[in-house]
Amino acid sequence: MEAPSLTKLEERVYRAAEAALVHQHYVSAIDVLCGMGLLASSAVDSWRKGRVEFLESEIQGSPNKISSSIAIFQRWAQEKGLKPSEAEYVRHARSGTVPLQFSKSGDPQIEKVFRTHYVSPALSERKVQKLQEKLEKAPQPVVFLNLREAECSECGAEIPQDSMLLMEADQPLCLHCARLDGLEFLPAGDTALTRRATKYSKRAAVVVRFSRARKRYERQGILVEETALKKAEQDCVQDAGERSAARVRAAVQRAEQDRKLVARMPYALS
Ligand SMILES: [Zn+2]
Repeated sequence: MEAPSLTKLEERVYRAAEAALVHQHYVSAIDVLCGMGLLASSAVDSWRKGRVEFLESEIQGSPNKISSSIAIFQRWAQEKGLKPSEAEYVRHARSGTVPLQFSKSGDPQIEKVFRTHYVSPALSERKVQKLQEKLEKAPQPVVFLNLREAECSECGAEIPQDSMLLMEADQPLCLHCARLDGLEFLPAGDTALTRRATKYSKRAAVVVRFSRARKRYERQGILVEETALKKAEQDCVQDAGERSAARVRAAVQRAEQDRKLVARMPYALS
């Protein structure tokens, strides 16, 4: 007897699911919908950063097609022996980290469908754990050193050239309105210090600047809480040799110099 031929929809789901699995060793409903062209990865990014409230509003296609695709995907994952695992998606908000919601209704079953990713059984325990941590980490906000004057879209304050702003839904926000004011600037260069300061800081952002010569954004450093930076500096001094300690002190000096840059901004130190 001949095997029943695949429907067009099954073919599309399988292709998207296989591609994601090969590429990243796990696959979620989000990956499948992206792979099928029903969801733009830029929309997922916007949702993860809080620019879009519910991911479901970004999915193209009829509810029937979407639910059929997801059902086909879940059956496929089960038949392949992939291990289901749930992740808590969060993002940074003004009040700390908040959970991300997929559906407007917040129906626990729908939420579970989207929170679940299916992991290849070939993946080691350690890698599975790393993956989980990666998925559950809130994306770090990106702050731009602006090349020209701008105006905050929320409070209307002027954001002078060469100061920092956050883009939210393509609108500039001053650091105060972005709730990133009062942070210290740590210039890029000391990897250990940067990593630790980021880890200790409840609020943090990456600072980038557009290089006209290289035509790309370049990382300048990070914004972190002062207490986090102090703690990170202590850690680095403690577990590093004298040579590294000197490097840390140099980095602290650099940070102090760069703080003047932050101080130039009217809202940075409020
Ligand atoms: Zn503002």
